[in-house]
Amino acid sequence: MRLLLCKNWFASPVISPLLYTRSLYSMANTTSFPIAPQAPPNWSFTPSDISGKTNEIINNSNNFYDSMSKVESPSVSNFVEPFMKFENELGPIINQLTFLQHVSSDKEIRDASVNSSMKLDELNIDLSLRHDIFLQFARVWQDVQSKADSVERETFKYVEKSYKDYIHSGLELDEGNRLKIKEIKKKISVNSINFSKNLGEQKEYITFTKEQLEGVPDSILTQFETIKSDKESDETLYKVTFKYPDIFPVMKLASSAQTRKQAFLADQNKVPENEAILLDTLKLRDELASLLGYDTYANYNLYDKMAKDSTTVMNFLNDLKDKLIPLGRKELQVLQDMKAEDVKKLNQGADPNYYIWDHRYYDNKYLLENFNVDLEKISEYFPLEATITGMLEIYETLFNLKFIETKDSQNKSVWHDDVKQIAVWNMDDPKSPNFVGWIYFDLHPRDGKYGHAANFGLSSSFMIDDTTRSYPVTALVCNFSKSTKDKPSLLKHNEIVTFFHELGHGIHDLVGQNKESRFNGPGSVPWDFVEAPSQMLEFWTWNKNELINLSSHYKTGEKIPESLINSLIKTKHVNGALFTLRQLHFGLFDMKVHTCKDLQNLSICNTWNQLRQDISLISNGGTLSKGYDSFGHIMSDSYSAGYYGYLWAEVFATDMYHTKFAKDPLNAKNGIQYRDIVLARGGLYDINDNLKEFLGREPSKDAFLKELGLQN
Ligand SMILES: [Zn+2]
Repeated sequence: MRLLLCKNWFASPVISPLLYTRSLYSMANTTSFPIAPQAPPNWSFTPSDISGKTNEIINNSNNFYDSMSKVESPSVSNFVEPFMKFENELGPIINQLTFLQHVSSDKEIRDASVNSSMKLDELNIDLSLRHDIFLQFARVWQDVQSKADSVERETFKYVEKSYKDYIHSGLELDEGNRLKIKEIKKKISVNSINFSKNLGEQKEYITFTKEQLEGVPDSILTQFETIKSDKESDETLYKVTFKYPDIFPVMKLASSAQTRKQAFLADQNKVPENEAILLDTLKLRDELASLLGYDTYANYNLYDKMAKDSTTVMNFLNDLKDKLIPLGRKELQVLQDMKAEDVKKLNQGADPNYYIWDHRYYDNKYLLENFNVDLEKISEYFPLEATITGMLEIYETLFNLKFIETKDSQNKSVWHDDVKQIAVWNMDDPKSPNFVGWIYFDLHPRDGKYGHAANFGLSSSFMIDDTTRSYPVTALVCNFSKSTKDKPSLLKHNEIVTFFHELGHGIHDLVGQNKESRFNGPGSVPWDFVEAPSQMLEFWTWNKNELINLSSHYKTGEKIPESLINSLIKTKHVNGALFTLRQLHFGLFDMKVHTCKDLQNLSICNTWNQLRQDISLISNGGTLSKGYDSFGHIMSDSYSAGYYGYLWAEVFATDMYHTKFAKDPLNAKNGIQYRDIVLARGGLYDINDNLKEFLGREPSKDAFLKELGLQN
């Protein structure tokens, strides 16, 4: 996932075998690296700093817009350039102020950051709907079009995009309608912030006795807080929170179907207050689309994506669903038989049917029994620190970069002690490394922290003047288990995949080479392409050599036995159709609610459950659940009517990997070419042209379908 904090501020609405040394993040003798030319951002904000800076931004921005509205004969030099400069400089501070709500351990700071987001979003909406500024841009656009040949590409694109975004936002409508649009956008913004805040702040949990948690090993049980039941029996209860490292092992390992059901439903039904917020937002979005002349919100929001319209998206998703269903049925039959067999053997009289809460358990059991793949055991070979060092080394080889962790407290500037700060260097000229930017890793859960995995762009790369670059800053926020006194944090294979994925977004953010922040990083590409670079990099986490090199047993330092790795790799596509069908459930639900024209009568709960049963093929057991209340994507401006983008982008990710890396995964020549053509160009060129240049032909769906076990 990729979260973009600063929504493209202002005019437009907007994530060979190596030598492995095991010292953390610093392979080379770090002294040979110069001091980074740009200090990391300062994180010592008090709540009143946050509100003070927010007010300052609001005043400065209003003053700036006022002065720009008065420019007579607006031109590139007296109007566009000041705008670009203003946008470049404001982005980083806004991102910092609004990022803290997701990561600060201080509730007052989180609250101040939420407040700041509300005010700044409101400001952004006010400014992006200023008619006087639109008229100025319209004049410059006329002018720039007439002398396109003599205007720099970035400037031309900047004016073009600004102008088109104004039109898309309804600036050509009459004043009455523009006021209505403003009001609706402000309500949507408040809803989005509250939805995300409720998710971040949720502290719900479910308790179980040890007996109910049978099957969950002691190594997991020790991470749960225990409480005494209030009954006289004085029974010990285990508190299972809905953070991933807690809830997932229970869903996967608890042998009691009743426990799995309770855990599944409690997790799905968390944050119930989000339902009303979601429903209200859907109505507001529909109203917004109507005012702007679109038949549905989906079509309104797809205008600047690769797919362009909802018909294309629905055809893509439905075609995939139809192709996958026969395969999914076969996969499911095997799991259903396993459960029926279990019930026959162990517990006569229990319900032998297969339900949605059984799926993680039997999927895991199937892997264990048929592929001898024990994910817990495999994780013993991937202690977090050493594995991350190894993963960074793969990125270093592939993209000719170097990661150096800042360890001395004097040069470290972070928002929490858990956070690692890393300087990134470009090694194209090994004698004289060039600074690339800063990346932060915030890897463990804590109260009030963002609960999913995401990359947050904190500052996009831009040129301050002709020779000086402002270097990018980006942060990976994940929720991997913390070390305990008995063992270090051990990464499950899916967590290795997650880290590699988020790092892919981070690198996209770091290597942008355009002059303006708007055209650099993941936020500058169409949102249905944004996941492709990260998804492509996930392929490395399924390669034998890379995995063996990454491994070192947390007790013995031994490499993982080849047989264990082989068993893991063989499982890559096991139950893959069912997995993709689940993704299709999310994508089709998102499209359904964003194309619905009768929202008054929409039962969101029935829609969610019915679609899941039909698409994922797995029974709800007649029990409705409300997973949409924690479906954060659907509330985001970028991912709404955009969840399909994960599958859409995978077409390109798979094509790029198989064409350029499958035979030689650490081929640095191809890696650097990819870095410079696909990543560094950001959003300045058409993504299809970049892909064509990198692949040497038009992109194709073949590799994608083959990966899914389907032929064209
Ligand atoms: Zn992502």
